[in-house]
Amino acid sequence: MLKIALSKGRIFKETLPLLAQAGIEPLENPETSRKLILKTKHDDVELVIIRATDVPTYVEYGAADVGVAGKDVLLEHGGEGLYEPVDLKIATCRLMVAGPVNAPPLHRRLRIATKFVNIARRYYAEKGEQVEIIKLYGSMELAPLVGLADRIVDVVDTGKTLKANGLEPLEHIADISSRLIINKAAMKIKHAQLKKLIQQLQQAVN
Ligand code: AMP
Repeated sequence: MLKIALSKGRIFKETLPLLAQAGIEPLENPETSRKLILKTKHDDVELVIIRATDVPTYVEYGAADVGVAGKDVLLEHGGEGLYEPVDLKIATCRLMVAGPVNAPPLHRRLRIATKFVNIARRYYAEKGEQVEIIKLYGSMELAPLVGLADRIVDVVDTGKTLKANGLEPLEHIADISSRLIINKAAMKIKHAQLKKLIQQLQQAVN
């Protein structure tokens, strides 16, 4: 049995056509079903529906053989125990530093609110800038508006959410897209099946 970890929403919607080209089609819709394990038309393949940030963890520990995760989530997780063989080129966005429009320069240690604490810590360490990082779990855009932080590190797509909150993108950290990830041990044990899946998904992307 091959278990594929996916998160609901944009990643699921955009991965589905790619999986269909590899002959993998779920028998139920996760947006309406409450089931967390979905059977597919392929007897030998199941989809496991989990939170986006948990996908690398399930695959790292081999609870799922394969997963689809955003590069933002992978950079934050660290990617231990994982192969990342295919850029699926879906759910694209940019990881940015953002702050209030026309904010004057601050001559003190900046406070950065983010859910990407590891990425933010690495980014500012590489710049040689001392900052204070505040971990949040959502609505990062609010933090500068209420004086919790000077800047945020977040993913930006159209930039509309930033603009609606009087913020602007300031620094580009990375371009983001979703990646196919594979458990390293599964890659050895289920080599033929996974090699075929990688080839089919790479072809579907092309
Ligand atoms: P935007 O289009 O920039 O207004 O983005 C809308 C919201 O969706 C923002 O809060 C972003 O953090 C989030 N977002 C946009 N694209 C992605 C993505 N590819 N993955 C995860 N979150 C995203």
